[in-house]
This record gives sequence, C-alpha cells and structure tokens, in this order.
Amino acid sequence: MRNSIKPAEKIKAGDYPDVGDNVYANVATYLDMTCDGGIKQWFIPLVDINKHSYAKIIVCGKEWCEVCGKKGSMAHNRRYVRWLPKIMEFESMRYLIFTIPEELRTKYRTKGALTDLGRRCQEMLKRHGYERGLRRWHWFGEKIIKWHPHLNVIVEGKYLERGELENIKRDWAAILGTEKHNVRISFKPTPADMAGCLYYVTRATFLDYSWDIEMAMELRGFRNMVVWGKNKWSDDPVWSLSPAERQEKAGEDLDVKAIENIIEHKCPRCGEHLIAGTALPVKLLELQEHKSLGAGYYEVLTSSGPPRLSDDVKKKLERLRMEWLIRCAFSDKNKNRLDDTLYYYLN
Ligand SMILES: [Zn+2]
Ligand SMILES: [Zn+2]
Repeated sequence: MRNSIKPAEKIKAGDYPDVGDNVYANVATYLDMTCDGGIKQWFIPLVDINKHSYAKIIVCGKEWCEVCGKKGSMAHNRRYVRWLPKIMEFESMRYLIFTIPEELRTKYRTKGALTDLGRRCQEMLKRHGYERGLRRWHWFGEKIIKWHPHLNVIVEGKYLERGELENIKRDWAAILGTEKHNVRISFKPTPADMAGCLYYVTRATFLDYSWDIEMAMELRGFRNMVVWGKNKWSDDPVWSLSPAERQEKAGEDLDVKAIENIIEHKCPRCGEHLIAGTALPVKLLELQEHKSLGAGYYEVLTSSGPPRLSDDVKKKLERLRMEWLIRCAFSDKNKNRLDDTLYYYLN
C-alpha cells in the first residue's frame, strides 16, 4: 500500500497552503483539529496473551472541542476517573483555589511561568504539611471571558483552622509578590462531596479558542493534571461510590478499577500486559460484542480476540487510516484543500 502513495517531496509547491501574512493560518490546523472532524470514529484495540480484548475510543481531548469540552464527555470522564482512585484514599478533603490578581495575570501567559507557579504553590503546601495532593489549572471563570488562570488544589484534611488558612494566604501572596491576596477554601466531608468537587475540578474551562487564541496555542502539550507525593499514595480506597452515585456524577457508570488498569496497559481480568494495536474504525468495534466500562473504554467480549481481517479488508483499512490521518492534519477552514489532498493520496 505504502508504495502507491507518492512521497511528500513530489507534491508540487502549489499544493501547500499559502499561509501568507496571516500568522494564525498555520496554527489553525491544530486549533480546529477536534472530534467533529471525525476523530471519534476510531479506537485503539488492546489485547493480552490470553486474548482478553479491550478498546479505547480516540478523542482529541481539547477543551474547546465541541465534543470533548462538554461536561460528562469521554475526555472529561477520563480525567475524572484517573484521579478518582486518588481521592478515594482521603477520609475527607480540602479544596483550595489559588487565584492571581488581575494586574499580575500577564506574567502568567507561558507554559513555563504556569508550571513554575503551580510547583511553587505545591511546595508551599508541602511546607504546611500536605505531603500529597492534586492540582489542575482552570483557565477561565464561569462568567467573564477573560484570561483568568486559577489553580485548583485538592488535599486531604478535616476542617481548616482559621490561623492555618491565614498562613497559606500570606505565603501565596509572597509567591505572587503581592501584599495580600485571598485564597478560597472549602471543606468536602462526604464521598459525594469529594467526587462532586473532583468532577468540577476536572471539567473544561477553555471552551472556545477564540477567547484567547495565543494561550490556546501556548498551552499545547501543557501537563495540567499534576499529582504530588510520590510514594505517599497507598492504593487503598477508604470509601467508594455506589453505581447509582457514579452514574449521577459522571452521567455513566464508570468501572474505575478496570479503566485504571487499562490506562496502565494491564488486563483488568488477568493482569497480563495489554498490547495496543493501531487505530481502527469504530464500526469494527460495533460488529463485535462489547461492554462499556465508561469514559470511552470497552471490553470486547468476542472470545476469538481481535477480528481476523482478510488482506482485502486490511488494504481498505490502511486507506481509511491514511484518510483519517490526513483529515486530522487539516482544519475545517482548509476543507477544499483537504478534499484535494485526499484525492491526490487516494487515487
Ligand atoms: Zn475532541
Ligand atoms: Zn487478560
């Protein structure tokens, strides 16, 4: 198949998009490359030596994606379920929100500055005795569309003493280099409170890249889910949610343990290593008997393992995959060019 595709260097210069003096023309592909472009129609098959078979739906995960940006989307539920086992180790928890005064926000418009500020906040909290915790930035507030990064921090603890909160506020102001700055804190005493809070923290806030196109580009590849306290997590949950409670929080029942295992490429059934294959169209998954584990993860129940495909089908798949890859590389705005390119590659 590969031989039938002409190498990229043979494409005439005129085949490339003319970005001209529009500086955003060449970044738009990244911004617009979201699930409505067809990415959701593919999955990664995973299988172990015992032929236990699983599937993970591919999503773009961008906060401004019409699919992924929604509450309860696969992307949201994946973030939620990744951290759920962590907060299940907490008897009760504290939720802190560290904001930045408006006049200082321009200082925090690079990945480096945001990473550094997050880390300094974490180290400060460690000095206050919080040996383990989780942190994630929200980029915008609920109402006003203005760059407003604020760090969400979840730590273990009972009701916070007033004096301790004052000390944390003082230290946060010192990190920012300002006189006084408020830190919001709330106490989450029950499992339902804790899970609800985590669901809120893991939601998307950058719902439209046009709100701040510069930051949308800058945050590409930013690691926003940070857990601290290596070796301080025991893996022993102290509470759990009932299926009904899980359903209520995430809009679907999530098999937390199974998903956790699959993320680590471990078979939830036998513990063997799961080997990931190349992406396949979701239609192939639909042809097999499967069971949802939640967040776009499935167990494939057909005991014969992954489908045996004839050479003809394999060829067709290769072609579809190529089309998909090319489609991923183009924005909606370049749709005409996309169709031209597809024609070029596929004929
Ligand atoms: Zn998406
Ligand atoms: Zn297995």
